[in-house]
Order: sequence, then C-alpha cells, then structure tokens
Amino acid sequence: MTPPPVPAAARIDLHAHSTASDGTLTPAELVRAAADAGLDVVAITDHDTTAGWASAVAALPPDLTLVRGAELSCRWHGADPPVALHLLAYLFDPDEPELGAELALVRAAREARGERIVALLRADGVELSWPEILAGAAGGTVGRPHIAQALIRAGLVATTTEAFGPDWLGERYRLPKDDIDVFRAVRLVRAAGGVPVFAHPRASRRGRIVPDELIVALAAVGLAGLEADHEDHSPAERAHVRALAAELGLFVTGSSDFHGTHKTVRLGAFTTSPEAYGRIVAGATGVTPVASA
Ligand code: AMP
Ligand code: ZN
Ligand code: FE
Ligand code: FE
Repeated sequence: MTPPPVPAAARIDLHAHSTASDGTLTPAELVRAAADAGLDVVAITDHDTTAGWASAVAALPPDLTLVRGAELSCRWHGADPPVALHLLAYLFDPDEPELGAELALVRAAREARGERIVALLRADGVELSWPEILAGAAGGTVGRPHIAQALIRAGLVATTTEAFGPDWLGERYRLPKDDIDVFRAVRLVRAAGGVPVFAHPRASRRGRIVPDELIVALAAVGLAGLEADHEDHSPAERAHVRALAAELGLFVTGSSDFHGTHKTVRLGAFTTSPEAYGRIVAGATGVTPVASA
C-alpha cells in the first residue's frame, strides 16, 4: 500500500498521547483535535500500547494522515542506578509477538509500580485508593499522571506539575519499574518493521539523561532519529541534539508530546519536517500511515 501523499508544507506532529495511556482525549477525539489544530500528519504514541490505533483510524477526519506508533518505556543499564528513557516507535507491526510480549510486561510492571507508589503514600497517611486510580485509567496504560490526578482530587497538590515535584511523584514517591532494555527495544522495533526515535533525549529537567556515547551506540544498532524540538528541551539542548544527529546521520523530529489536560502543551506546538517524516515512512515495513478513505 502506498502511503498517502502529504503537502510540501505539511504540519507534522509525531508524538501525542490518548486515553489509551495517560492523555485525556480518546483516540477519536485526538485525531479530531489534530485536524482542528491544522495538522496534516499526527502520530498516536501512547505509552507501551497500540490499543488506541484502531479507534484513531476509525475516526480519522479528512485531510489528516495518521502515523501509528507507541512510546516505549526503556532502561539503560550502563549507569548505576540504570537510567529510564523513552523510545518512540513508528509504523511497526503490532502483531509481532516478541515486541507485543515486552509491551505487555511493561504494562503489568506499571500496574505493580503504581500500586507500590500508592502504598508508600498511604503509609505516610495519604489516603489515595489504588483501585480508584486504576479505574481512572479505564483500561489504558497506567502512569504517574493518573496518580497525579488523584493527588489533585484529594486537594494535596494544585497542578500536575506540582504533583511531579520532588515532594511527590518526582522524587520522594518515585519508584522505578521494569522497563525494556533500550538496546533490545531498538532491535525489537526494527525486527517488527518499525522506526525507532529517541524521545526527548536531553530533557535534563525531567531527570537523569544519558551520555552521547549511548546514542552513538544505539545508532549503530538501528536507532533512526532523535527528537530535538520538545518543550522539555532548552534551546541549547535542542541545538546539541541537532548537532549530534547530523554527526551520526540521524534525522531529527519536533513534536508536542500532547497529553490533553494532563499537560499545558498544545498539539502542533512543535513540528517535524516533511523530509524527516519521509525518512520514517521510507524506513518502515510494519504498517503504513493511514488517511481516511
Ligand atoms: P510514568 O510513565 O508513569 O513514569 O510517568 C511519566 C509521564 O508523566 C510522562 O508521560 C510524562 O509526560 C509525564 N510527566 C513527567 N513529568 C511531568 C511533569 N513535570 N508535568 C506533567 N507531566 C509530567
Ligand atoms: Zn505520558
Ligand atoms: Fe516521554
Ligand atoms: Fe510522551
């Protein structure tokens, strides 16, 4: 199947979350919002799941192309303690069993970790209910933003940003989960016909970041691109990512990492060039981008 053509001046946003993970718009609402925002291409990239793909496809408005993807929770074991990082995976075959099994393990690990975070909070007298938080995720991949919402509902913090502060989910009640080894993740995404892109690689304001040497090593095993333009990168960090990508022959992307009302960023706040988009489409053999008939 030939991918749908996109305009030369296309507006392309390759990182957005729905209620299939920790966004607040359903996949159907997400694609409508993307069209309303004037995007030509949007990617659905929920954490560790492809569960939103079908309803996003079914609801696709005219003149919008959908890139099916996911954001994989990964870990690099080259530091002590290991560093958590995110890998965007585009246009992979969702039925590839090995990758599918890894994603299921990560989703289960997220539930176990969420429950442990809530147990820690409860031990300190914070009366949150894990069953209620899990129900709030409505079957989507559960994450700290769901716990953040419970903290807001309980009146303990005012905003998601505050909930991610050091006194709460950012440090004091932050627990690791079992993520996919990042080298294994790159290989599995490629084996499933997908194209792997390192999400917000220099976002130091979120936590520890990895050294450039790791990105060099990942490029050698199939990493295809780096997300440069992202709200969690300073201008200097964006420039650094661009320079590193140029050195390694990787493409760069720019994306909103939209989460609905769980974050303030809007769809299309950062965009990707048609050239980089073309490299993703050309490099993928799993599934193609889709446009409404
Ligand atoms: P988790 O995947 O459970 O570790 O939670 C991480 C998610 O929380 C990511 O999707 C981030 O987008 C979101 N997140 C991380 N830091 C913040 C923050 N300071 N404010 C709002 N959302 C955040
Ligand atoms: Zn998220
Ligand atoms: Fe991320
Ligand atoms: Fe994200």
